[in-house]
Amino acid sequence: MRTLESHICGRWQSPSGEGFATHHAVTGLPVAGVSSDGIDFSAVVEHARHVGGPALRALTFHERAALLKALGQHLLTEKDHLYDLSTATGATRADSWIDIEGGAGVLLGYASRGRRELPNGYVLLEGEPEVLARDGSFLAAHVATPRRGVAVQVNAFNFPCWGALEKLAPALLAGLPTIVKPATPTAFLTEAMVRLIVDSGILPDGALQLICGGVGDLFDHLDGQDSVGFTGSAATAALLRTHPGIIDRSVRFNAEADSLNAALLGPSAEPGTPEFGLFIAEVIREMTVKAGQKCTAIRRALVPRSHLETATEALAAALTEVRVGDPSNPDTDMGALVGTGQRDEVRAAIASLCTTTDVVVDSCTFHDVDPVVGAFLAPTLLRASDSEAGPVHDVEAFGPVCTLVGYDNPDHAVHLAALGRGSLVASIYSGDADEAAHLTLGIASHHGRVHVVDASVAVTSTGHGSPLPALVHGGPGRAGGGEEMGGLRGVRHHLQTTAVQGSPDVLTAVTGQWMPGANRHVDRGHPFKLHFDDLEIGTAVRTESHTVTLADIEGFAESTGDHFYAHMDEEAAAASPIFGGRVAHGYLVLSLAAGLFVWPDPGPVLANYGVDRCRFAKPTYPGDTLTVWLTAKQKTLRAGAGYGEVVWDAQVSNQDDEVVATYDVLTMVANRPGVNGAPDGRTA
Ligand code: NAP
Repeated sequence: MRTLESHICGRWQSPSGEGFATHHAVTGLPVAGVSSDGIDFSAVVEHARHVGGPALRALTFHERAALLKALGQHLLTEKDHLYDLSTATGATRADSWIDIEGGAGVLLGYASRGRRELPNGYVLLEGEPEVLARDGSFLAAHVATPRRGVAVQVNAFNFPCWGALEKLAPALLAGLPTIVKPATPTAFLTEAMVRLIVDSGILPDGALQLICGGVGDLFDHLDGQDSVGFTGSAATAALLRTHPGIIDRSVRFNAEADSLNAALLGPSAEPGTPEFGLFIAEVIREMTVKAGQKCTAIRRALVPRSHLETATEALAAALTEVRVGDPSNPDTDMGALVGTGQRDEVRAAIASLCTTTDVVVDSCTFHDVDPVVGAFLAPTLLRASDSEAGPVHDVEAFGPVCTLVGYDNPDHAVHLAALGRGSLVASIYSGDADEAAHLTLGIASHHGRVHVVDASVAVTSTGHGSPLPALVHGGPGRAGGGEEMGGLRGVRHHLQTTAVQGSPDVLTAVTGQWMPGANRHVDRGHPFKLHFDDLEIGTAVRTESHTVTLADIEGFAESTGDHFYAHMDEEAAAASPIFGGRVAHGYLVLSLAAGLFVWPDPGPVLANYGVDRCRFAKPTYPGDTLTVWLTAKQKTLRAGAGYGEVVWDAQVSNQDDEVVATYDVLTMVANRPGVNGAPDGRTA
């Protein structure tokens, strides 16, 4: 039996002893020894802080996103090796797909989100600046920068690849080095994945370290710049969050714990409706995928009493179709639990549940395997004899186990869902949008995610049990009170938000984004004649002016068909409490402004791809004279694309210097010929 190695301080290290033996879920044979004996945890933390952290922080958000993309693609090309090992965890091919390709998918999802939603810089500006002085000379901005610490992740056994990658992706994108501590029973698969990552050479040294085995005194070396992301049982979460090292030094702690997730069959989803069928199919799927070892699995199926008998029969019938057996056989629907120890725990939990439930199904045929040697367990369907009784809402059987619970009316269903004391997810099956909305709002406070299914989303819905990188994964109370992923929300967990107060020039320098009131540079000619590389933040043009006439307004109405009374009907416009007379179309103001600031000849500005934050501050009347300030506000290089995106602050004023319109103009601006992939000889 081989002993797993840990990857620390830039090298692979074997433990000083053989460690804890893990076993193949199907054959029961030893797979690997797991131990962290001999690891100097202080050195591991220091390596992350002083080698990995600086290397990651030297990269922009976009450069880090590129690392994630390369990593995701690399794992996909090397996935077969991981699939082979995954069988030893009891996982079928479909189960492994969630873990392996789902994990790579999180990396790719964060890579693309990072490129689209984060600046190609080092600082993330949160929201709009606050003006603190009436004359605009003193501002504040919330800026988020990477914490100077390490993200420690302690994971559960059930998703040895996805569990590590869904925490790694947002941390790396934020610029934080990570120490991964996988759960012992499936650490051999995480170790194999980390080997692929390390061997690829994609990540800088110190960005990722792996500890196979216990955490030793690791927590004693953490401080207020570090964070711990935990996934596992509520009992372990309670132990770790109260560790003196966590409390004394305010180490950020995020917990994803166990959860008694519910599926609610709406009263309108009567037997025979598509929603009834979708409910039955999803409960079966959630009981059997990963042999029910999913934190998001449906543990409680809440059904109107009037449909309870039919739902019980339908689920029992569907369970007879589930083929349980060798996970390496493509015909197998459900494989094994991770080990016989885990099976013993689930059996004990079932015994506890059975004190207030009746067994509907608890046996099956096991195909191609010895269910005594392997960690196999029949899918077990229970039915609560008392809807409110404790164990059903309290005991998590982390296996293929679900309990049917009857309810009296929608409010009773909401009450029962809340008895789980906070869950990761609930799903609702109803073809009645009002009923679904009532149930959703009733249970939202107790859930991190609510998945509503009707016939119209039968094919497109993403599934009760699938956390998505774009959506929050976490739940209140019993579910740990934490939050992971959720798009950029997950990245922000690793950043420190700081309110910076100062002059517009200082805030421009800090954020890399031009702030209202900061200096403008007008000495370089028209900015549309400058390539991306030559354009400085604050480069600006103040345009000539244009006096708006009634003929402008009527011509615009004629060509666009917009004859709204405020532009065309003198009498009605005069009676308007807002306008008091005919005014120019807002879109005419934008068009006239473009006519003032656009440089007509071919040049580096390739395209205008949109307008953001547009506000019409004051009406523009015939006879008003408009002028525009156009200022380069923000630059984002598109690596290798030959261009970058430039956001321009546009401010349109009238003859009295009153601002009538403000907005951001979004453009693509070419790099100098030959730079960043721009072709030589591009028009200048
Ligand atoms: P667990 O026993 O709580 O272990 C979770 C992790 O904590 C493992 O890596 C374990 O390492 C480590 N650990 C245990 N005791 C520790 C200690 N004293 N100090 C430091 N680390 C410690 O949970 P599990 O059996 O692996 O996973 C099953 C549970 O996880 C279920 O209850 C399930 O609901 C929950 N879960 C929740 C989510 C979620 O996102 N909310 C996801 C998956 C699973 P060792 O293995 O080396 O002991």
